Order: sequence, then structure tokens, then C-alpha cells
Amino acid sequence: MFKTQYKPSPLNASRLAAVQPLFVDGSYAAGSAGETYKIFNPSTGGVLTTATNANSQDVQITVAAARQSFDRGIWRNISPMDRARILWRIADLIDENAGDLAELEMLNAGKRLSDARDGEIPFAAECFRYYAGWCTKIEGNYVPLAGQPANEFMAVTKFEPIGVCALIVPWNGPLVQAAWKVAPALAAGCSCVLKPAEETPLTALILAELAGEAGVPAGCLNVITGRADVGRQLVGHPEVDKVSFTGSTATGKKIVGGAETNLKKVSLELGGKSPIVVFRDADIEAAAAGAAGAIFSGAGQVCVAGSRLYVEEPVYDEFIQVLKQLTAQLKVGCAADPNTDIGPLISRRHLERVDKYVQLGVQAGAVLESGGSSDLTQGGYFYQPTIFSAIEQSMQIVQEEIFGPVLVASRFEGMEEALVLANDSKYGLAASVWSRNISLANQFADGVRAGLVWINSHGLPDMAVPFGGFKQSGWGRENGFDALRQYLEVKSVITRTVE
Ligand code: NAD
Repeated sequence: MFKTQYKPSPLNASRLAAVQPLFVDGSYAAGSAGETYKIFNPSTGGVLTTATNANSQDVQITVAAARQSFDRGIWRNISPMDRARILWRIADLIDENAGDLAELEMLNAGKRLSDARDGEIPFAAECFRYYAGWCTKIEGNYVPLAGQPANEFMAVTKFEPIGVCALIVPWNGPLVQAAWKVAPALAAGCSCVLKPAEETPLTALILAELAGEAGVPAGCLNVITGRADVGRQLVGHPEVDKVSFTGSTATGKKIVGGAETNLKKVSLELGGKSPIVVFRDADIEAAAAGAAGAIFSGAGQVCVAGSRLYVEEPVYDEFIQVLKQLTAQLKVGCAADPNTDIGPLISRRHLERVDKYVQLGVQAGAVLESGGSSDLTQGGYFYQPTIFSAIEQSMQIVQEEIFGPVLVASRFEGMEEALVLANDSKYGLAASVWSRNISLANQFADGVRAGLVWINSHGLPDMAVPFGGFKQSGWGRENGFDALRQYLEVKSVITRTVE
């Protein structure tokens, strides 16, 4: 058995030995009340470190630092080229620190080391490079007035940074989720308060330190840690102009309510229950491998996880057999073990929630084809990859987001039924369709109510491609110009050009 005791790098060891501070106005700071809470390693169940539970005074100080930096214009008024250079430098610093950052994502979020080191950390760096490129291209328009003579008036539109942004992120991709918000917000010229999930504050703090080292002025990127109440206070704060939130749909609804204090702008990246639809002419081996990756990578703790599988009738039985064989080969275990395919769930509480859903599925009459149980023998929060068949659309396991390695599968016949089943959800984040017939696949893509559709693949993100949901999966988009736009206000200036 793999030894779950893992020795971190000397730098990370000294970081973990200390209480995780806040990052306010350009430097690390202790919480004003000294209140802390424990952070766990999900692979072992052991205490990894302690973090600061900020209180309302900390929230006031942190927001004031962001507000002051914004109002003084120390970031938004530097030249776009200089802003671009600094964002690019952040990317380089992330790359230079990739080993330590990946190790912390592994220890703190249960990410497999290779996934963090070769995937998420470089992806976060590239996100800063991508938005560095946008800094010099935030252009307005010349607009001919519709109701006035062209020689008497001219109008231009220009984009301005929206102001102080509260960026609230979940635990399932700590650095990437932070980068998806911080990079466009900084590119736009905003000042930010980043609130990582209470379970995973580590890499957000290092990001702020690296941003300072790269040249982001004090106060323009602050990090405040703590429980949900810290997020709630940021959302209600009158000096915050914008909230960008990624997390559950239930919390998203609370945020909409909390933002009414000053009608701050809100964007939301929320939950999903994304369908994988396999037509009879698909490459079965490729589609089954794609389906396994779609639901089991990240132990299913991925917002775009393919958690509902619909396979066309003639190939359903064959498909399930291939998928079960692939699933049986997956090794569940410690994130540090290079042989692990599926790492731990984030917490014991989350594991119990996932298991509760599985029990609900069994009680409702769904058939367990694989998995269906937890494994706590190694101390960590491990759950077997689980596949249900014989499902009804009305079952909770079909309608609700489980956010774990649990797949529900059923059959369909023809495009019409595929779309009815795929669209039978309050969510509309993502979908994938598998077929050798590209016009058929595009017909499905046209009909499915989801913000992101993959054809013959599932889950590939890209910083240039808008990412977000229809229906209760959110408001707005991450990535691409769409994300940048969410941190900008448009201002129209009309000039009379004649005396
Ligand atoms: P969560 O909603 O419980 O928490 C997310 C963040 O919100 C945390 O930082 C938390 O402290 C904070 N928070 C909690 N209550 C708050 C409140 N009332 N006001 C302000 N902030 C509050 O979500 P989670 O359990 O951390 O993450 C899992 C969820 O995130 C899943 O539903 C998943 O689908 C979703 N998610 C969505 C995307 C996407 O891009 N659509 C990406 C990743 C995760």
C-alpha cells in the first residue's frame, strides 16, 4: 500500500507550520481577532495547517484597502502596456513556483500531483498571459447618432473598470478558479478582494504574494479567508461594486439576495448536471473512455462533470459493459500516489453527502452497476466510482448535483428523445455529444440548453472560450472577452461638434 505520509518541500513545510494569514494592502496580516480553524489533507484526514477566520473588522479593513487603491487610480491609470507586462510577470512567477503550488493543491485540495503540476498550475499561468494580451485591446467604439445630423454630434463608447470586485471561489480548483477571476479583473483595472473557499485558502494567498512581487500595487489584490460569513459580508458590503461568484446554485441565490444593498453587479458560475449523449454511430471505446473521464476525473468534483449518461438503445448494453470494464480498472487513493486515478473527496462532510445521494438512489430503485461505497481505511475521504442504471428522470440522483464520482445512465431512441432527456434539468452548464456524424452532433448542440457543448470530447476548458451556464447554472461567463466584459462598465460620451 502507498504510504500516505508525504514530505512537503522545505518552503511548503514552513508555510504549513504557520497559521495561514490574510493578505491585505500588499502584505500578509494576521486576523484582528486571531480566530483560526483547521485545514485538512483530504488524502489522509489529518490536519494540514490552520487558517485565519476573518471577522467583520477584517472585512472592513480589506475592502477599504481595495477601495482606496481603486479610488487613487494606482492600478487602473497605469498604461495598458504596463498592466500587461505585470500580468505576464505573474504568469512567469506562477510557472517558477509551479512545483510548490502543485504540491499545495495536492495536499490541500486532494488534486493528483500530475493533474496539478501539468494541468491546473500551468493553466492558471496561461490565463494571466491570455488576459495580459487583452490589456491593450479594451477598445470602445465610434457610434453614429441615430437621431441627429452626423455633422453636429459625435459619440464614443469607452470601457472603464467596474471598481472594487469581490471574487468568491470554491474548493474544487483553488488556483484555477482564482485565476479565472483575478486575471480578467486585474486586466480591466479593477481592485480585488479574493475570498477562497474555507477548505482551500493556500494557493490564493501565494497568488497575491506573487502578484505583489510582479508589480501589482498594494491594495489591488487582497485575500481574505474564512467561512461563508466572510463571503456574505463581502456580498453585502456597500463599497464593493461587483461580486463574481463560483460555487453552488443554492449559495448563488443567496448572493443575488445579498447584493441588493447597493445593487452591485453580480456574475455567477454555479452548479451543473451535465449530460453525456452517445449516439449509436459513436466510437464506443472513445466515448466510454470520454464518459469515464467526464465523471471520474477530479472524483466528480468538477462543475462540468458529465454526471448523466444517455446512450442510444442499440448500443446501450455494449456501452455499459465497456464503461464498467474501464471503471473497474480505476484506482482510488491518495493524491500523492502516482498510481492513483481517482483522488479523495474534499471533506468528510462532502463524502457523507455523496454517500447519502447514493443511498437515495438505491432506495429509489436504481441499479448499482459499479461502486456505491466509501473507503475510509486509509484515513482519507475516498469514494468508489459509482454507476447507476435503471434510473427514472424524477429521481434525486438524476436531478440534483451530487458533485462526486456518481454517474446515472439510461437509454434513448433518436434525437428528439435525446434532447428531451438532456434538457430535463434545472441546470444548463455543459453537455457532450458523441457521434461520427458531425451534422447530427451539431443538431444536438443546437438543441441542447447548455452554455458549453463538446462534440466527441468532454471537459476541455480554454481561456479563450466563454464558460458558463444557461438556466440555474449561472449568470455571465468566465474566460474570453466575455469574462473581461464583466469587470468593465461602458460609458457613452456624446459631443456636440458645432458651435
Ligand atoms: P459553495 O457555494 O458552498 O461555496 C463557494 C464559496 O462561496 C466559498 O468560498 C464559500 O465560503 C462562499 N460562500 C458560502 N456561502 C456564502 C454566502 N452566503 N455568501 C457569500 N459567499 C458564500 O460551493 P462549494 O461547495 O465550495 O463548491 C462546489 C459548488 O461549486 C458546486 O455546486 C459546483 O458545481 C460549483 N462550481 C461551479 C463552477 C462553474 O464554473 N460553474 C466551477 C466550480 C464549482
